[in-house]
Amino acid sequence: MTHRLYQGVPGVGDISASLRAPSMMGHPERCAAAKPQRAVKEPAFASSQIPDPCSLTPQFIADGDELHEECGVVAIHNHPHAAHQAYLGLYALQHRGQESAGIATADGHHLANIKGMGLVSEIFTDDVLAKLPGHMAIGHTRYSTTGDSALLNAQPIRVESTKGLIAIAHNGNLVNLGAARARLERDGAYFQTTSDSEIIVQLIAHSRALTLVDAIADSLSHIEGAFSIVMMTRDRVFAARDPRGFRPLSMGRMKNPAGGPDTVVFASESCAFDLLRAEFIRDVLPGELVMVSEDGVTSRQYASGLPQSSCIFEHVYFARPDSRIFGRWVQESRDQMGRQLARESGVSADVVVPVPDSGVTAALGYAEEAHIPFRLGLIRNHYVGRTFIEPEQRVRDFGVRLKLNPVHNLLAGRRVILIDDSIIRGTTSRKIVRMVRGAGATEVHLRISCPPTISPCFYGVDTPSKRDLIAANQSVEEIRRYIEADSLAYLSLDGLLSCVQDDEKVGYCTACYTGNYPTQWVDVEDILPAAVSS
Ligand code: SF4
Repeated sequence: MTHRLYQGVPGVGDISASLRAPSMMGHPERCAAAKPQRAVKEPAFASSQIPDPCSLTPQFIADGDELHEECGVVAIHNHPHAAHQAYLGLYALQHRGQESAGIATADGHHLANIKGMGLVSEIFTDDVLAKLPGHMAIGHTRYSTTGDSALLNAQPIRVESTKGLIAIAHNGNLVNLGAARARLERDGAYFQTTSDSEIIVQLIAHSRALTLVDAIADSLSHIEGAFSIVMMTRDRVFAARDPRGFRPLSMGRMKNPAGGPDTVVFASESCAFDLLRAEFIRDVLPGELVMVSEDGVTSRQYASGLPQSSCIFEHVYFARPDSRIFGRWVQESRDQMGRQLARESGVSADVVVPVPDSGVTAALGYAEEAHIPFRLGLIRNHYVGRTFIEPEQRVRDFGVRLKLNPVHNLLAGRRVILIDDSIIRGTTSRKIVRMVRGAGATEVHLRISCPPTISPCFYGVDTPSKRDLIAANQSVEEIRRYIEADSLAYLSLDGLLSCVQDDEKVGYCTACYTGNYPTQWVDVEDILPAAVSS
């Protein structure tokens, strides 16, 4: 049996000596974070156990054929119960990562940090939150995209550096890690983790800029890739997005219940503001660094001139429909995708059935546009939970039947249009098609609310390499035959782009559909196609 692990109770689990600038570094000690993990109290879930029914359940089907979310970040400035607010924010962002979570708080003098493996609600009980005093907080919920899945790589990371004590958490994936890391190591840096966040704090610690805010801006301008970052010192909160704006990050505000200046909040998605009763102010801009202190909110553009490349797949799949990202409601985008899909690839049928949960909004749009009844012909078991989505993927074959069940009386004798948001390896889609047909459907037509996924993501989404992506190696007709559908159609790229644009034009990354990457750094191994068998 495994155990739930905590790390970083106040004063424990931080990175310090190793992150001092070279002049301060003697022989760096291994920090507490690298010590053997401390097992406490309650057990975590073994792979055969059903988790807490109160836990939020992620959107996807675990069968080795799904895309994993990235991470979620939140930051709070000027609230008497900042840790509780960060907890609520993370709770709303749980869909972005279920492997680990952490909250760091500051009270003007001290900086505390607690991280654990598991869901936000499992880690942060009232007792644990009581150990996080202060009016400022940052939080993080994680699915590992880089680095291994150990608690060591959970965030926030707390760092003692020449620029002062810093806590940092980020969402995304850096792509010039090798170069940045090698340069830092040449300068004497000693790495404790394999996470991207540590690269960023090492850059801050080694920056020649004199002030912390200048050092942060300088460091961010040296890294390439996707990052939405929240940082905190003893008395300030920072939030920044990478220059291309890959990942979402929004700023909000709420009345401070203790009076005085408003509370300022940041979150990966605006759905977190609803739970906090915060008002949405605006998105943090690509290349913008925002600082919040006693003196108010200040902002600077630390980088500019790069074309915006916000992740279009956030609209297709990752973000919650009740979030507003990249200036647009996700619900509206998905509804439009369903409608456009119906216009592009309509087929005569009796019912439109979503693959829940993420296919629901697009299916509603499709059904309305096609004037075909919408039916919840597949029911998702919301109590299965993360047992089946942990990176080890201990349980695979049973996954689809455990998570989805057909409603026989809605499907039997009917021609069914199934709406889903992606086909990765194809194995899950085939099982779902078989399941619907097994329930008595006379025809099964699969419609996908985005173009074929032909290339892996290097910006924070855990896609397989090209050789494992079915659409990179087979034609649509070959995929149709493999998944055993009567017909298969994807939304066109132009159609998808038309569904995520408002009057104000936003530039999107579409690399997983086109293979055209906005950055120069990609892993060549991962973009090699499958070997052709002779
Ligand atoms: S490659 Fe795909 S998933 Fe990755 S950032 Fe670009 S659009 Fe998003």
